[in-house]
Amino acid sequence: MEKMRFIDLHCDTVVCEVMKSGGKKHLRANPGGDLDLLRLQKAGSLVQAFALFISKEPAKHGYVQTDLGPWEFYLRAAELYERELAGNADLLAPVLKYEDVAKNASAGKIGALLTIEDGAPLEGDLARLEQMHRRGVRLITLTWNHENSLGFPNAVDPEKGLKPFGFAALERMNGLGVIPDVSHLSDAGFWDVAGHTKKPFVASHSNARALCPSMRNLTDAMLRALAEKGGVAGLNFAADFLVENGRLTTIRDIVRHARHIADVAGAETVALGSDFDGIGCAFEFGDCAGLPLIEEALNKAFPAREVDLITHGNALRVLRESLG
Ligand SMILES: [Zn+2]
Repeated sequence: MEKMRFIDLHCDTVVCEVMKSGGKKHLRANPGGDLDLLRLQKAGSLVQAFALFISKEPAKHGYVQTDLGPWEFYLRAAELYERELAGNADLLAPVLKYEDVAKNASAGKIGALLTIEDGAPLEGDLARLEQMHRRGVRLITLTWNHENSLGFPNAVDPEKGLKPFGFAALERMNGLGVIPDVSHLSDAGFWDVAGHTKKPFVASHSNARALCPSMRNLTDAMLRALAEKGGVAGLNFAADFLVENGRLTTIRDIVRHARHIADVAGAETVALGSDFDGIGCAFEFGDCAGLPLIEEALNKAFPAREVDLITHGNALRVLRESLG
C-alpha cells in the first residue's frame, strides 16, 4: 500500500453521488464517480473531508431534488454519511479530534472529516451549531452561492459580508473547534472572518484569483491574510477555477496555482481541496487515484519538505490548532 499522505479538504461525493443516486451508489466503490474509498486507499489518502452539500437547486441542474428545508436536508445527509461510515468501517473512521488522524492511519484507515457546505441549516440558531458539532461536524463552509443567516456569498454581492449571526456563529465555531471555511463567501465576508477569527480559518476549495479571475478564487491580499492566521487554501481542481474558461483540468495548472500561492503567502498556506464529484470536469490525471501524479509534478516545482506540507502537513497543522 502507498504511504497514507494526502489530505483533501473538500469533496461532494456524499450528496452529489451517494444521496443523489437514491441508494444505488456508495462510498466504497463508485466507478464513474471522481472518488471512492478503494481508489483513495490505493492513492494513499490520509484524511478525506466529506462535505454535506446542502442542495437548494432544482434537479435539472444536476443537484439533488428536494422539498426538504435546509435543516431537514442536513439531518438526512448526516444519516446517510453515518450509514456509509458504519458500512465501511474497515476502510474509514471519523476524525473528531487531532489524535484520530494518527490513530486511524496506524489502523490503515482513511480519516473521514465531516464538513457542511453551506451554513444554511443553522437558520440563525447557535444550538444547532452545537448539535452539529456533537454529531461530528468539524468544518463549515459558511455560505454556498445563496444568502443565508450567516452572510452573503460572492455569487450574490461581494460587498455584503457577515451578518450579526455570522459573527456569533464564527465565535462559537472557534470555541467548539469547528473550522470556518470561506470558500464561496463574499470578499467582504472573507475580511470579516479574517478580522475576527481567533483560530485558523480555511478556504477549503479555492485557488488564486491573480491567475484565474473567478470570484471563487482568492486575491493575493486574501492569501496573505489567510497565511497570517495560519490557514490554508485547498487547491480546487475545477478547470474553470484554474484557467479562465478552462475545460480540462491539467496537473500543470494545479502546480501553477500552488506555486503562486506559495510565492505570495508561503508554502505553509497551500493544501488540497479537490472538489471531486462537485465540478463535473475532465481530469488529465483521471480521478482521485491520480493524486500521486499531482504529487510527482509538485516534486519538480517544490523541495520535498514543501511537497509534504502541501499534500498533508499544512492541513494537519490546521486540524491540530483547531480541533483540540
Ligand atoms: Zn463548493
